[in-house]
Amino acid sequence: MNLDQPRGRGVARILIDEERLQARIREMAAELDAHYGKDEPLLVGVLNGAVTFMTDLMRAMSIHVVIDFMAVSSYGASTKSSGVVRILKDLGEEIEGRRLLVVEDIVDSGLTLQYLLDVLGRRNPKDIRVVALLKKVKAEAASVQVDQVGFTIPDEFVVGYGLDYAGRYRNLPYVAVLDPATLNETEP
Ligand code: 5GP
Repeated sequence: MNLDQPRGRGVARILIDEERLQARIREMAAELDAHYGKDEPLLVGVLNGAVTFMTDLMRAMSIHVVIDFMAVSSYGASTKSSGVVRILKDLGEEIEGRRLLVVEDIVDSGLTLQYLLDVLGRRNPKDIRVVALLKKVKAEAASVQVDQVGFTIPDEFVVGYGLDYAGRYRNLPYVAVLDPATLNETEP
């Protein structure tokens, strides 16, 4: 792991390396295969952060799946949730009567996910399951439905493996914590 590459500049430490990520994703995929059996779930990826996780997860699954994406407003260049969620891109697929698997990168306050679940639930899918790669240890996050969590992490701002800071760091193959100096440099 070379932190001197441009993409790794500003990283303070690696929280979850590539090997651990991929091993856990294989386990999660096997659980999902067993859970859905002969059914074909519709994987709903939450853009942009869940792209990396979703593509690895679906390739580790051996059952048939259909995929679609939604985009909701995120934090912008800030590291704190505004609590305001907006749909920026909606699904192309009809979901009534279908089995949905919502694929999230990270659950922090749980506000984004709660909003999505409310929106999707009103469209009468057969059922909704939620898989999140990361979940922060937080009292608020505990109340939202998450059926499968890859890793529970401390309440720190993380980047990498799909997660950004001001648009950067999504292409790191690991999950990392930024150097506080990096946050101070670019935060508005
Ligand atoms: P929540 O609504 O649960 O507070 O936040 C959900 C969204 O905020 C995530 O899908 C992600 O886009 C963003 N987010 C939450 N925590 C972090 C974090 O530690 N790092 C990054 N890069 N994004 C985060």
